[in-house]
Amino acid sequence: MKQPRAKASPTPGEILWANSFQTQLLTWFRAEGRDYPWRQTEDPYAILVSEMMLQQTQIATVLGRGYYQRWMDTFPDVATLAAAAEPDILRVWEGLGYYSRARNLQKATRAVLADHGSEFPRSVAGLLSLPGIGRYTAGAVASFAWNLPAPLVDGNVARVFTRLFACDDPIDRPAMQQQLWAWAEALLSREEPRCYNSALMELGQRICTPRSPACLICPVQSCCASAGPAATSRPNKSPARAIVAVIEHALFARRDGKILLHQESGKRRQGLWKLPERSPAETTDLPEILTATYAITHHRVALHIHAAPGAIAQTGETWHPLADLPALPMPGPYRKALNQLLSDRQP
Ligand code: SF4
Repeated sequence: MKQPRAKASPTPGEILWANSFQTQLLTWFRAEGRDYPWRQTEDPYAILVSEMMLQQTQIATVLGRGYYQRWMDTFPDVATLAAAAEPDILRVWEGLGYYSRARNLQKATRAVLADHGSEFPRSVAGLLSLPGIGRYTAGAVASFAWNLPAPLVDGNVARVFTRLFACDDPIDRPAMQQQLWAWAEALLSREEPRCYNSALMELGQRICTPRSPACLICPVQSCCASAGPAATSRPNKSPARAIVAVIEHALFARRDGKILLHQESGKRRQGLWKLPERSPAETTDLPEILTATYAITHHRVALHIHAAPGAIAQTGETWHPLADLPALPMPGPYRKALNQLLSDRQP
């Protein structure tokens, strides 16, 4: 099998192979492709929202748990999102994690309003000039909104390519990233980039899956150098970072119909409210009323919550009426723990 190379003039064999790959992929997608809401629109804003949400989150969560629809109902266009208050944005995003995605979405809409006359720049280079938009997202918006011949590589596409070309180099290495983008560029359908990019991503999501690729029913099986048992050995990655155990101690301080909360200022959860943290020494004598565990990046956190009715607010901490809690953005694990504590301790 000939592999396409990153060069100006592909050989006749490479052209034939690429044509065959495109034809098989597009034929399958026209018959079997799914009809997601973001495929029923050419609005670059709606497409950008879906791409940002899907960067770290499964389609089933974004659609099945109503995140995409809620966001589009609350912030239906560039102007509405650009004018929104940050707590309102974080509240609608709550539960999806990686909150910088929500902030970047707003920054991008503000740049569209301020620098581009309220219209998204209609090119990959223009999209890349917007805050928070990288190469993958620019390619996705350009091809899905305007059918521009823009390549894209995400985790699904990377997996498909390493299997197609039986490549064992770790996909997170810069040289391999370059190779993946070169393949994406070389194989892209210039006639139907929107359909082709959707098809390629969906092949990775539904057929060429990480653990159980369905090679027997794969539409591009005849083009693939890994079809069969070899498929699951690819792609390779550099060794993963070790999981780090972390212990947090937090206070459940409630009095006079109010609860003490701390507003995060760190990069990852900036603006979100959570129970105030204290050192182990400060909580030694306080009764523990709930233990929860959660994972964040490569950390495994054990959260110990202590009853502290006599707590005193420290810097960044505020007493909030209980009635305000539903409107305050909060990290998912803290929301869950707080809901449990409040339902256990009614009124
Ligand atoms: S044949 Fe198997 S490994 Fe190859 S692209 Fe299809 S599903 Fe993936």
